[in-house]
Amino acid sequence: MSLLSVEDICVAYGPSQALFGVSIEVGPGEVMALMGRNGMGKTTTIRAICRLIGLSGGAVRFDGRDMASWPAHRVARAGVGLVPEGRRCFAPLTVEENLIAAARPGEWTLPRTVALFPRLGERLGQRAASLSGGEQQMLAIARALMTNPRLLILDEATEGLAPVVRQEIWAALRRLKEETGVAILVVDKSLRELATIADRAVVIERGSTVWSGSIRDLTGEVSERYLGV
Ligand code: ATP
Repeated sequence: MSLLSVEDICVAYGPSQALFGVSIEVGPGEVMALMGRNGMGKTTTIRAICRLIGLSGGAVRFDGRDMASWPAHRVARAGVGLVPEGRRCFAPLTVEENLIAAARPGEWTLPRTVALFPRLGERLGQRAASLSGGEQQMLAIARALMTNPRLLILDEATEGLAPVVRQEIWAALRRLKEETGVAILVVDKSLRELATIADRAVVIERGSTVWSGSIRDLTGEVSERYLGV
């Protein structure tokens, strides 16, 4: 059974409809890439999954349960860890305080999380505001892990970062995939990096799912047509 099941969802911002039928299935422990050009609806899809915006059609189920009437905090509590676009940490708090504030019981404890991101371990007492952009992004991912999610959602987690920092984040995500059973839904612009981690991909175009399958089957024709690469 799917862990996350997004069934033909529609979303509107006031009078302007953004999603016209997006469907995504993510199995337990699976890594799914959510792809599409700018403005095609990736962030809106993620916001709808996390109940940060309402649906005008379709359904989102997590572990078989319809989340339609749930507030966002209940989605988080059920095991969906979101790393939103533009990394959100509590700037005045230290790295350690940020991590502890997010903690919920499970395998992801402070030592384990810090082992995945050693840079954070070296900066536990430092204020989040003083971290580099890449370190803040690592902290945002680490915070989501500390909630012990069953599904981790990453929206453009490597956006705007230096190549070396981007590599560190991809390496951490690959370790995460190898060493744990957490499912991941990931949006990123780098098809090459996505191909090293994702099992499957969904491509959306103007608010609709237009392709889904094994990421190995994402041919040049599909990526030229829908991703412009
Ligand atoms: P990007 O890669 O640029 O972040 P995206 O694929 O995540 O793009 P969305 O941000 O989901 O795309 O946007 C989908 C559509 O919804 C776009 O047409 C966008 O202009 C519109 N949209 C997004 N947020 C809002 C909003 N708050 N109010 C009105 N329209 C919005």
